[in-house]
Amino acid sequence: MMDCQLEDRKSAISPPQFATVLSGVRGAVTFDAPLAELTSLRIGGPADALIVPEDVPDVRRIVRQAATARLPLMVLGGTNLLVKDGGVRGLVLSLSKLAAVTREDERIVFAEAGVRLPTLLGYAVSQSLSGLEWAVGIPGTLGGAVVMNAGTKLGDVQNCLDAVQMVTPEGHVRTCAAADLAFSYRRVDLPEGVVVGARLRLTPASKKHLEASTKAYLQYRKHSQPLSQPNAGSVFKNPSGTTAGRLIEEAGLKGYRVGDAQVSAKHANFIVNLGRARATDMLLLIKKIQQDVFHRTGTMLELEWKVVGEG
Ligand SMILES: Cc1cc2nc3c(=O)[nH]c(=O)nc-3n(C[C@H](O)[C@H](O)[C@H](O)COP(=O)(O)OP(=O)(O)OC[C@H]3O[C@@H](n4cnc5c(N)ncnc54)[C@H](O)[C@@H]3O)c2cc1C
Repeated sequence: MMDCQLEDRKSAISPPQFATVLSGVRGAVTFDAPLAELTSLRIGGPADALIVPEDVPDVRRIVRQAATARLPLMVLGGTNLLVKDGGVRGLVLSLSKLAAVTREDERIVFAEAGVRLPTLLGYAVSQSLSGLEWAVGIPGTLGGAVVMNAGTKLGDVQNCLDAVQMVTPEGHVRTCAAADLAFSYRRVDLPEGVVVGARLRLTPASKKHLEASTKAYLQYRKHSQPLSQPNAGSVFKNPSGTTAGRLIEEAGLKGYRVGDAQVSAKHANFIVNLGRARATDMLLLIKKIQQDVFHRTGTMLELEWKVVGEG
């Protein structure tokens, strides 16, 4: 039954390769899995195989076996990501089952990588811990946030990260101290592998104050960003000395459309999916924005989104 399904698919991966890679895996596996519904843009073709590992030992097994079989593997949280229309060849991991959060001592919280930032922030506030307020309104997973050094003008991952727990391609668990990592704007140089958890260093604070400040900041974000339409956060990194949103707005591109991909009328550094946008529409719009802004200002906007897949 499984072989028959696989023969019908356009996968670059042979059934025996899959059988080897998935041997002993306990998490759910879906072949030809539509990724659009797992992304905040609601765009993207299927993955050859989507796996939801049960726990860290399951991640270790999958990563090790995929590396041995030379199968490509990526992790998807889905909120800073454009998946191309032809989908992703190889394995895609969703870490949604790795969502445990524990308080280790007065200032240290350990969280697994699949926990969503709003849940993690809610936990920190409930524990009267400050340091994650910058994460208000950011929907990604902690693992994705670490990889992207996610943040806002209030702070970023770098400000509160104590250590990252990773699974290496050999399947070993490795802990990297934040002090040994090179961080820059929306970037950190991590060793190859899958982030499975992070230790966060937070500060005891008044719960009432935290509740009030996070509520006020969420209101501000709802007011200034198109949160009711499918989007993937800021499209471009801010160039030094200005914001990408300002340059795009000054180029007269607010509201500009390619198919159902539109530069948000609310915030010019957001592109929204009006309903049936394809990745190709998004990519054409991105190119148009980069060209117009470059001709006007000489600045080439750098993409913050990660673009994955083929087609
Ligand atoms: C409405 C909205 C508002 C946003 N606001 C902000 C904001 O203010 N600031 C900000 O920085 N971002 C913002 N974002 C973007 C996004 O939420 C963050 O960048 C987030 O941290 C990405 O997490 P993710 O789990 O969705 O990762 P993804 O977008 O799925 O992945 C990003 C990259 O990290 C890799 N990756 C993900 N998880 C792992 C892992 N566990 N191990 C190894 N690699 C991994 C992926 O393969 C990909 O290359 C916003 C997004 C939306 C939709």
